[in-house]
Amino acid sequence: MAIYLKNATYIDWQTLAFRPGHLRVEEGPSGTIEFVDSCPPDAFDCQGKLVTKSFACGHHHIYSALARGMPPPEKKPVNFYEILKYIWWHLDKRLDLDMIRASALVSALACAKNGVTFVIDHHASPFSVEGSLEAIAEAFEQVGVGHLLCYELSDRDGPESRAAGLKETEEYLKRRPGLVGLHASFSVGDDLLQRAVDLAATYDSGIHIHVAEDPVDEELTLKEHGCRVMPRLQKAGALDFSKTILAHCIHLDDEERAILAASQAYVVQNVESNINNEVGTFTSAAIPPERIMLGTDGMHSDMIRSAQWTYFHCKTLDTLDLPAAYQRFRNVHKYLQANIYKGDGENNLIILDYDTPTPVHQDNWLGHFFYGLNASHVRHVIARGQWLVKDRKVLTVDETDILLFAQTQAQRLWAKLTT
Ligand SMILES: [Zn+2]
Repeated sequence: MAIYLKNATYIDWQTLAFRPGHLRVEEGPSGTIEFVDSCPPDAFDCQGKLVTKSFACGHHHIYSALARGMPPPEKKPVNFYEILKYIWWHLDKRLDLDMIRASALVSALACAKNGVTFVIDHHASPFSVEGSLEAIAEAFEQVGVGHLLCYELSDRDGPESRAAGLKETEEYLKRRPGLVGLHASFSVGDDLLQRAVDLAATYDSGIHIHVAEDPVDEELTLKEHGCRVMPRLQKAGALDFSKTILAHCIHLDDEERAILAASQAYVVQNVESNINNEVGTFTSAAIPPERIMLGTDGMHSDMIRSAQWTYFHCKTLDTLDLPAAYQRFRNVHKYLQANIYKGDGENNLIILDYDTPTPVHQDNWLGHFFYGLNASHVRHVIARGQWLVKDRKVLTVDETDILLFAQTQAQRLWAKLTT
């Protein structure tokens, strides 16, 4: 059944044109919207509020959702490798299916409330691999958030975990659209890399991998494989897929940037994570601007925040202006559309309760978006033509129940972290 939005001020997410009127929002994974002259009596009255396309996240890690406030690591990390070793690999090894389910539910809940209706996630739980992707998919669907998932394959946890990761990936891709996840070049041997590329080819998928997030990725790849990361991925065929996603790409040299530019791969910038890990700043030199997306890297689920941090941090470091920052923020829709992934159509909308003290219109919308807007302005959310959030309350699930479940699972996980 269609939703009618009466008295909306619709902002076209591509042209930024403002158009007042009534909208008919079609239901379904590929539903559209259209302006109509009149509405049925039960139409939702937007009272002139701003309505625009909802958001999508290009790189998330639901597996880190229960990390907020967790006990400190046994050793304070002094570099990126130690951040992985003492924090993230220490945590992901201890996840079980209930914890994964809780992590996915709270992430989806946060996304929904922030107006993020589609998430590209990169999941790791090396000792609870089987069924992990299905558990995440079901949690996202329970809440009503679209997803494109992958399991993070790696050689870091031995042959059994690696085999389980390959099996989980293949079983998932047999049933659902997804990607073939790899941790990073430095933790993936040649055999695993080739198997991952073969899986991506077999299932018409792509690779989702961290690239040159820290110099250690380049250094260890050079030492182990005699070349840098991008030539290695190119040689293996990982860049031949239009669905391939490369997260970070901070420490690429000129040759690697040229390889990237000549490929079809997309890049995801995760600026807050990069600042937090002190790994450097992404710069877009030689990378086609239409293939740079934004993600949260598991830090949070708020894409307005990601867009604003990107702009403020990179406006001088990467000569980024407001339209270019906005394009990065919105490119994820183009990635999903170009690769014919369903669930991110025009019938995904947010209705903003934006109490601006100054006039707002097409010519200054980006000024408002970057300097005025925040997630608390997202009052209602429609996902795939169905109500997901009304008056900042998620309608599809009981938020209190999910938060209680997550608290219990977080306590279980934290207890395991210190044993
Ligand atoms: Zn990541």
